[in-house]
Amino acid sequence: MRFIIILVAIALVFFILKKSLQQLISSNSKTRTKPQESMLPCEYCQTHVPASEAVHHAEKSFCKNQHLDAWLKENK
Ligand SMILES: [Zn+2]
Repeated sequence: MRFIIILVAIALVFFILKKSLQQLISSNSKTRTKPQESMLPCEYCQTHVPASEAVHHAEKSFCKNQHLDAWLKENK
């Protein structure tokens, strides 16, 4: 009888470990598929744009090329 209880206890520990491991893997894959991208404010209109979509010039960021051009014309 004691043997069965130990067997069930081991099975239970395995089950819990497997569950927590799956949660760990799924939470990791979630962070991988949705990376936190920093938002940068446009120097011209102050609209926040993702860093990968922003236009960069002289350590400043812009939402589009037109705003970079407009900013350059105003800040000569
Ligand atoms: Zn802009």
